[in-house]
Amino acid sequence: MSKTLFERICAKEIPAAIVYEDEHIVAFKDIKPMAPTHVLIIPRKPIATLEGATPEDHALLGHLLMKAPQIAAQLGLTAGGYRLVLNNGRDAGQEVPHLHLHLLAGRKLAWPPG
Ligand code: 5GP
Repeated sequence: MSKTLFERICAKEIPAAIVYEDEHIVAFKDIKPMAPTHVLIIPRKPIATLEGATPEDHALLGHLLMKAPQIAAQLGLTAGGYRLVLNNGRDAGQEVPHLHLHLLAGRKLAWPPG
């Protein structure tokens, strides 16, 4: 199986502006930001969608979510808040088949989403 785009970013084969990484996850700036701050937080493990996660991924997915406020704090976002988005599947607009959280902040975000 060929690597996903995001696996290649994790492996530093494709450059990205990484803002946080540890042995389980990597966070980097989105190449086409939709807000003043737009960071993608991804597991190193290439899980395509939530349906592809297994019981052994419980801790990994917890870690992904639990790290978001730490990354937000590191980026100075805590006071104004931020939005986390997980596009899961075609109708949600998922383009990259490697699970990822969008962390969006820095402007008033509309609701509901389009
Ligand atoms: P999705 O639509 O799958 O939820 O989000 C994929 C995101 O990946 C998009 O916001 C897109 O701008 C971002 N993206 C696609 N290719 C690259 C890339 O090569 N580098 C970075 N940093 N972001 C990318």
